[in-house]
Order: sequence, then C-alpha cells, then structure tokens
Amino acid sequence: MANTLPGVKCTVKNCKFNEGGRLCSASAIEVNVDNGGDSAKQSRETNCHTFQPHM
Ligand code: SF4
Repeated sequence: MANTLPGVKCTVKNCKFNEGGRLCSASAIEVNVDNGGDSAKQSRETNCHTFQPHM
C-alpha cells in the first residue's frame, strides 16, 4: 500500500489516490467550497479538489 495521509478518511473509491475505499495516498489535498467562495455552512458544501479519476 502507498503512503497515506494520516487523519484523512476518504470514501471516493474512483479517485486514483484512494486506497482501499477509505484512505488517501496523495502528497497533500486541497479542499474547497462547492460553487466557489471561502465559506461553507455544512460539510456537504465542501469537496476535495485533488480528486483525479482512474484512467
Ligand atoms: S485526493 Fe481527495 S478524493 Fe482522492 S483519495 Fe485523496 S482525499 Fe479522496
């Protein structure tokens, strides 16, 4: 298994950085507010922008 980011849980299975459906092997991640801006009211309004689909 590749090195994973401690403390980051991710269930996005079709990301090329995902390990086992629960861990992230990217060197770092960027998380942004959906639809721009810098303020979210709920967790569902944010997403990881380091995501890359499997080819
Ligand atoms: S890059 Fe983002 S979407 Fe992909 S596994 Fe890591 S945390 Fe999940």
